Amino acid sequence: ARSAVVTRAFARGYASAAPPHALVFLEHRQGSLDSGSLSALTAATQLGGQVTGLIVGSSEQVGEVIEKAKKLQGLTSLLHSASPQYANSLPETISPLFEKLLSNNSFTHVVSAHSSCAKSILPRVAAKLDVPAVSDITSLEHDAASNSTTFTRPIYAGNALATVRAPSSLALKFFTVRSTAFAAAAEDGAGVEAKVVDPVEVSDVPTEHISTTLTKSDRPDLGVASRIVSGGRALKNAETFEKTLYPLADLLGAAVGASRAAVDAGYADNSLQVGQTGKVVAPELYVALGISGAIQHLAGMKDSKLIVAVNKDPDAPIFQVADVGLVADLFEAVPQIIEKLKQ
Ligand code: FAD
Repeated sequence: ARSAVVTRAFARGYASAAPPHALVFLEHRQGSLDSGSLSALTAATQLGGQVTGLIVGSSEQVGEVIEKAKKLQGLTSLLHSASPQYANSLPETISPLFEKLLSNNSFTHVVSAHSSCAKSILPRVAAKLDVPAVSDITSLEHDAASNSTTFTRPIYAGNALATVRAPSSLALKFFTVRSTAFAAAAEDGAGVEAKVVDPVEVSDVPTEHISTTLTKSDRPDLGVASRIVSGGRALKNAETFEKTLYPLADLLGAAVGASRAAVDAGYADNSLQVGQTGKVVAPELYVALGISGAIQHLAGMKDSKLIVAVNKDPDAPIFQVADVGLVADLFEAVPQIIEKLKQ
């Protein structure tokens, strides 16, 4: 019944050309705002209107984050809602809160990072409201006069860019943001007011959270690292992968990445995979060692600022995107690079 009411209220808003007012889902972990959400906020500011942040979690989780979020550059207001039901970011419990917030037509856009959690929540809410959602956008342009928003988003593993327009007839536009395409919003703003929103308690939640297993690493996080050293199938096995790559990564203060072939062969953990079905990264420096450069791998790293490739095959496709290419056996080249760096 609630959905029906929301949809009717929503339909009434179709003709209005309200100035943009974005609701940005600000995800957080252990007291820190996720960098993907900070990029989503930057994207939302490019709409040129008001930007309201939304923080959801248990009361223990949200306390510290609210103080940080208040100071985010680009935010014009902040909403937060706390409930034990929100502790594990289950889409079934968080989506009704979005529906409630969107029911009075005060927002024109709903924005989030293209994260696992938001990818589960935003399309669910959009479907409930019977509107489309645009995912993984890399740029946007909002035309205030016609109230339409045009997005670009990579398709076919990044080999083509689709231009998608959410027309003026759509009163509410949902989109998720590829974090590598937008700089993170700074946390040094003047400070905005934070307002509490009552949680929407959901009975009979169909999903139960059992446990969360986080990969622990002392190395920089792949998703946000400014330098990445990645290894491919050429690394032979897990031991050689570690012995060859890690000293170089440590010297450079870099995160470690891997091709899917290296992950599938068990050389590296699944969480390190870069590419179409792994992480999409755009560091200052990406070093590809013994990686051929299949399009599915390039889809995850070709926007890196400086790409260095070492491969013994001069025709390897990785050299087509590399800024610096070395045709060499990596087992000879990497120790030499390490020696030079130490000097
Ligand atoms: P290979 O292609 O086998 O290349 C190894 C390279 O090492 C070769 O170029 C070789 O010349 C070089 N080499 C060998 N020995 C040495 C040496 N001693 N010194 C220097 N160079 C050496 N792949 C990903 O990486 N990420 C993804 O997300 C991903 N998603 C996929 C999704 C789909 C739907 C499909 C179909 C495929 C996907 N793949 C992905 C797999 C992708 O197509 C390639 O198979 C994979 O990237 C190859 O990994 P690689 O470059 O390590 O191995």
